[in-house]
Order: sequence, then structure tokens, then C-alpha cells
Amino acid sequence: MFQSSTKNVTPESKPTDRSKETTFQRELKGLSNEARYEKPYVRAESGNRLVDWDSLRRLIVENTKCKNCGGEVDLSETTIGISTVVSLSCRHCKRKNEGFSRRTNYKELGFHQNASESYAINCQYVLGLMQMGAGNAESETLLNFLDLPHGSTFKKTTFGRIQTALRNEIKNISDQSMIDRRNEEIKATLGEEMFLKYTKKELNPQQVKLTVSYDMGWNKRSSGHKYDSISGHGFVMGGKSKFFSITGV
Ligand SMILES: [Zn+2]
Repeated sequence: MFQSSTKNVTPESKPTDRSKETTFQRELKGLSNEARYEKPYVRAESGNRLVDWDSLRRLIVENTKCKNCGGEVDLSETTIGISTVVSLSCRHCKRKNEGFSRRTNYKELGFHQNASESYAINCQYVLGLMQMGAGNAESETLLNFLDLPHGSTFKKTTFGRIQTALRNEIKNISDQSMIDRRNEEIKATLGEEMFLKYTKKELNPQQVKLTVSYDMGWNKRSSGHKYDSISGHGFVMGGKSKFFSITGV
């Protein structure tokens, strides 16, 4: 997998290599770190890493000199949720550089640049826990076990704030997904030819008879094991496609 080869490294092959760059890579070229991470979240090839903070700080402080004056540097951090902004500053000339975690499209969403919701990793963390049926209490346990920052504030405020911030986006994606899945079920029932004859307005369960399965539950939100919620939720699953196509609360 990691074989080294020199046969493709020729001057002729260089333009081909550059043409293999993704649009995202080309877009990032020449931008400062801050400008890069101002961009809306795109799955970059860099991703996220967990490192021991003290070890990283010593590695950088003991092996780095200021580019401007050759002076010694300090590495400091500001944590926002589980995201981190690292600052490298010169003890002598005070020159400062910062590295950011990836941002969400917070400007369009109207969030403050230092809000937890403005950092992609915080939103990804909440979405991951929601996907597992976990909530703010599990969030605190996990952060504390991993020795990551803000376990307590994530439980008290951050988790809820991010959930609220993401609510409309999740709802829109879910609604569109249901429509797509329902159309797949209608197509599977009618056949491609008949499906194409239907107008958009006609493509609904009142017009087309479908065979479906239905189930419902009274699970309490984010509890994972409590079934005494005062509201219930039901799901309709297409008999042919086996996808959820309608939900109700
Ligand atoms: Zn300096």
C-alpha cells in the first residue's frame, strides 16, 4: 500500500498530479488558517485528531522559534465545547498565529463566531449521540471519561443549544428523505412506466394504494430505555422498498 516508486515522478506527470486535486483542495490553497476554517464544513482530508495537550504543547514550544525574530514561542488554547483554537505566540515580538477547528456555515445561520454551534466538531458530536439515542447526560459521561473539556457545560447548556440550532436542518432533511423514499415505494408498486405518468401532486398515498407495515412507540426522548412518554411516534414502512416513508407524532 505504501510502496515507493519513482517511475511516475517526471516533469510531464506534474500537471496530471495537480489536476487530481479536489475542488476543495484548490479552493483552500493560498488561504490563511483562519480563512480556511471560516469556510462551511466540508469533509476535508485532514479530519480531527485527539492528542495529549501537554505533550503537544511541549513538542511545539521546545522545538519552534519565531519566524519573525527567532524568539521563543508559547502555545495556548481556547476551548469552545470540544473544539479548540490554538494560539502560537512569540514571547519577544508578540507575533501571534492561530489554528482553528473547522467551522459550520455559522454566518448564514446567524450564530456568533465563538458560539459552540459555529464549530463543526461540536455539532458532529451532538448528531452522533442523537443517532445512538443518547442525550446530554451520556454526553457528560463520555467527555469526562475521555478527559475532554466542558463535560458539565455540554450537559447543562451546550447540548440543548446545538440540538435547537440543528432542529430545522434535521427536520428538512428528514422530510425530504421521507418524500424520496415514498416515491421509491410508489415506483416499486406501479412500475417505472406508470410512475412517470403521475404528476407530482398525484404522487401521494391517498392516490396510490400501497402495501405497508406500521409500528409505533412511546419511548422517552434520549432515555434509551423509558417508554412512558406523553407523546407517541409512529412509522410507516414501505412493503416493497422496506424504507420508512411516513412518520407521525
Ligand atoms: Zn518573534
